[in-house]
Amino acid sequence: MTPKRLIEEASKVVGEYTLSHPDLKVAKVGAALVTSKGNLYTGVNLELACGIGFCAEHSAIAQMLKHRETRIEMIVALNEHAIIPPCGRCRELMFQINHENLHTKVYIDKNRFMTLRELLPNPWIPNP
Ligand SMILES: [Zn+2]
Repeated sequence: MTPKRLIEEASKVVGEYTLSHPDLKVAKVGAALVTSKGNLYTGVNLELACGIGFCAEHSAIAQMLKHRETRIEMIVALNEHAIIPPCGRCRELMFQINHENLHTKVYIDKNRFMTLRELLPNPWIPNP
């Protein structure tokens, strides 16, 4: 899959809408990832009260895990204006589900990626 197609797939799920209260919103940000098996998964963010929302990468990764896959080849997140690099929590999430994801290509612009290793130089490692 090309980065262009990955970005197109993430763009398809972007489209903010409101839930049961004007402050509770979904899908301002969309994410798409491709696994080492070549499968595509997408997700949207949730902006909820009390800090219980989560990022679009998070929901795309949850969909991937549902299919028993953990190795991300490349990933992108964006809103309707720009590509957005992953937050620190999502960087750790990608690392903790599979340490090989340090090789994941994280698109930070339509023509530019950084590896997760570059974005997460000192990942958290639990004590053995
Ligand atoms: Zn995040």
